[in-house]
Amino acid sequence: MAFAYDDSNIFARILRGEIPNDTVAENDHALAFRDISPKAPCHILVIPKGKYVSFDDFAANASEAEIAGFMRLCAQVCTQEGIGLEQGQGFRAITNAGTHGVQEVPHFHLHILGGAVMGPMIGARG
Ligand code: AMP
Repeated sequence: MAFAYDDSNIFARILRGEIPNDTVAENDHALAFRDISPKAPCHILVIPKGKYVSFDDFAANASEAEIAGFMRLCAQVCTQEGIGLEQGQGFRAITNAGTHGVQEVPHFHLHILGGAVMGPMIGARG
């Protein structure tokens, strides 16, 4: 079954410039902005500019240029925010997919969280 992308999702609207965002970094293939409801002192979302629903969609179907652009922007965010291991104390990178992953926005995004110790990897299920 193909990945069905919904053009009305909120990150698609951000990419079209229909709603504002707090951009921290951008390149040809990806955009990084602050999460509107931060779960850590530093909580950045990195999204591809292409229409990919989830991590597995992006990993399977994005071009090498898109994947490289996305990953390099993640590195830039870690450096800019001072949370990368070259200069900072680390971070957690999470992506949720589908119903079991409890994904709210159906446009692939990586959460980069830092600025404090993150605690257990996952909380209680259910
Ligand atoms: P997920 O559950 O992985 O799909 O996470 C979606 C994330 O998007 C949540 O952490 C929300 O707080 C965040 N979010 C939703 N709307 C916006 C928005 N307009 N700008 C920034 N972050 C948003």
